[in-house]
Amino acid sequence: MASSCTGNCFVCGQQASQWCSKCSEGLDKDGNPAPTFYCGRECQAADYKKHSKGLCKEANARKQLYRGAQLLQDLFYAYREAAFDLKIERAEITDGKLHVFEAYFDHRAEDNGPLFPFPDDLVPDANDKKALLSFLACQEVPGNMAELIKKILDGICDFNSGVHELDYVPKQKHWRISRTQGNVLDTNVFRHAAIGISFLNGDQYVVDPAGAQCGQYQAIVPFADYRQEYFEYLPNFRKFGRSAEMQKNILNGSIRDQLGPRFDFRVSFVQREVSKTMTFTVNGWEESHEKPLANVLNQKQAEFQKDRDDILDVVTKHMRLTVQWWEMPEGPKITYDEVRQGDGSVDVYYKVEDAKGSWPPEMDEMYEMMRRE
Ligand SMILES: [Zn+2]
Ligand SMILES: [Zn+2]
Repeated sequence: MASSCTGNCFVCGQQASQWCSKCSEGLDKDGNPAPTFYCGRECQAADYKKHSKGLCKEANARKQLYRGAQLLQDLFYAYREAAFDLKIERAEITDGKLHVFEAYFDHRAEDNGPLFPFPDDLVPDANDKKALLSFLACQEVPGNMAELIKKILDGICDFNSGVHELDYVPKQKHWRISRTQGNVLDTNVFRHAAIGISFLNGDQYVVDPAGAQCGQYQAIVPFADYRQEYFEYLPNFRKFGRSAEMQKNILNGSIRDQLGPRFDFRVSFVQREVSKTMTFTVNGWEESHEKPLANVLNQKQAEFQKDRDDILDVVTKHMRLTVQWWEMPEGPKITYDEVRQGDGSVDVYYKVEDAKGSWPPEMDEMYEMMRRE
């Protein structure tokens, strides 16, 4: 720590330049550094019992939470970039917001897709890119990242009573993005999905990896601040796991009727595979390094950053390989049957044909390599 790091002794209030080393990287409620200063050994010893059970523990729990939320957001962006599913033909800034022109795309009639490279040339601004990566994708956070969310947030608080899925109408003034699909301006008022988390000490937060679409770029925000700024009305608090269940029902066809005729199952299939790769790779990393994510998040800053970069790097590689696999001739195929109903409408039934080859060999190799390292 720099020499400018001084404060008042927590016990006697005198100026102090020493601090508890156990929580030197701990955070306050707003995510700011919050070291506890002591003028010397005597004051620290007097406070030791209370501090180690109280402030010290809380500051470190918040560090773990803020880092975990940031990791979830980094993973979300990497996942969306690997599995981007909008065919953007043009983009412009209108009234300070990003407006995208999306080709109306019937995957049944086209040979390419369901995924497309992210259009970096059309959307060069970093924040616009985040907005577009999260556009219409917020549900994929609780839907496709549930296991990772549980792994990262569990253990910081009492998971089952403390974590919820939030579903809400955001204030439209913050909304960052609009689209024309085909020739039609999309006038839907979109809802937004995020995660709410409560600590036993009363702290409440919104973990919001996909908030960029409604102008909220931070991975985590204290609940009270979030409520003030972003909720139009109070959100629905839903049981954690609901979106993952929904995702399952989309893929097994049991809620087909609710999804509408244009719903593209191919996207859901491939994205599920990519998200499975994300989870599988994180699990593999933990195993091969014999280091659970909770330990990764609790390390000193430099080691944490090194591991985080490594995790993101290998997850990104594996997700790209998974997408390539679905696009290879020997990869799995999604096919469909069209059944004409009595009223003239057409129902589409999708199914996945198993791959001709085995799981991409490069990926097995990479996983093996990672285990040996
Ligand atoms: Zn003192
Ligand atoms: Zn401490």
